[in-house]
Amino acid sequence: MMNLKSMTIPELTALFKEMGQPAFRAKQVYMWLHRGVRDYGEMTNLPGALRAQLAQSHPICAPAVVRKQESQKDGTIKYLWRLSDGNCVETVLMRYHYGNTVCISTEVGCRMGCAFCASTLGGLVRRLEPFEMLDQVLFTQVDSGLPISHIVLMGIGEPLDNFDNVMRFLELVNSPEGMNISMRHISLSTCGLVPKIDELAERKLQLTLSVSLHAPSDEIRDTIMPVNKAYPTEELLAACRRYYGATNRRISFEYAMIHGVNDRPEDARLLLKRLKGLPAHMNLIPLNHVEESPLKPSTRKAVMEFQTILEQGGVPATVRRTLGGDIDASCGQLRRKYTKEERKE
Ligand code: SAH
Repeated sequence: MMNLKSMTIPELTALFKEMGQPAFRAKQVYMWLHRGVRDYGEMTNLPGALRAQLAQSHPICAPAVVRKQESQKDGTIKYLWRLSDGNCVETVLMRYHYGNTVCISTEVGCRMGCAFCASTLGGLVRRLEPFEMLDQVLFTQVDSGLPISHIVLMGIGEPLDNFDNVMRFLELVNSPEGMNISMRHISLSTCGLVPKIDELAERKLQLTLSVSLHAPSDEIRDTIMPVNKAYPTEELLAACRRYYGATNRRISFEYAMIHGVNDRPEDARLLLKRLKGLPAHMNLIPLNHVEESPLKPSTRKAVMEFQTILEQGGVPATVRRTLGGDIDASCGQLRRKYTKEERKE
């Protein structure tokens, strides 16, 4: 049975009709749920009998805060939540000048196996339900008291490997009766699942697609991203061109700068050649060191040089400001630490 918070208003309307309730109840319940209510008792415009019935048939789920860390430097807050089955996921709240942004997880763990990423070390445990993604946005807003205006799907997991649930989540969080977050304020990041990029293109959403490229060639990408064996760079870039053709939305590329692996000037030049004619934006991210990995971040000088070559070649490139460095606020690090500590106990 689907969780009530994963259901759209038309679906809730059908359910309430079956229960012999008037249609307007659906919208009332939806609005309460999407405000972060944890108990039917709080739904004061609902008859008591219905509240009691729903509490029995459809208990409200809400994640519990296991850990909350706040950066002293930049106000970034990282949450580790416990889901109703005991699994944990992370959400990061970042305070940018244009608005409060949450970075949410889409899966518990990940099966993509990128060599530099902490989220994938324990493999995929399970995919998140739509309401579990919504809850991360909702309860981050409730707990912090800060209104959330932007979302990035860049936490633990591969969003396009959980396609249907992610699409449903987007519909929910975008709905005017719900959190009403504009698609233009949402970014979805993928390691490059080509058929799913095409499927996403068909939906013609106004969100920003971020592609984790991290290398200019198969030679390099093969060594750090196993997904490249299934969808090599040529196919991936072709899919990006199709995506742009279908949506007219500029693609944002992520490029983690790894010392001695992908950060040479010739890598930047090759990248320029391969992106020719594709409106793109490059996000250069100095690698966040992961304890279990031998990979090291590029030097500041290498990052600057790389950026200059791209910019001079006509591809806008920004060096991502690293937020929350003092609180393990990157990809799966907090969950990983917690799971390891728990095992020790
Ligand atoms: N699975 C999706 C989204 C989650 S990862 C994807 O691959 O895009 C979000 C971004 O963080 C990706 O670009 C990912 O490659 C990057 N990333 C993961 N570990 C990192 C690290 N240690 N340092 C810098 N970036 C990292």
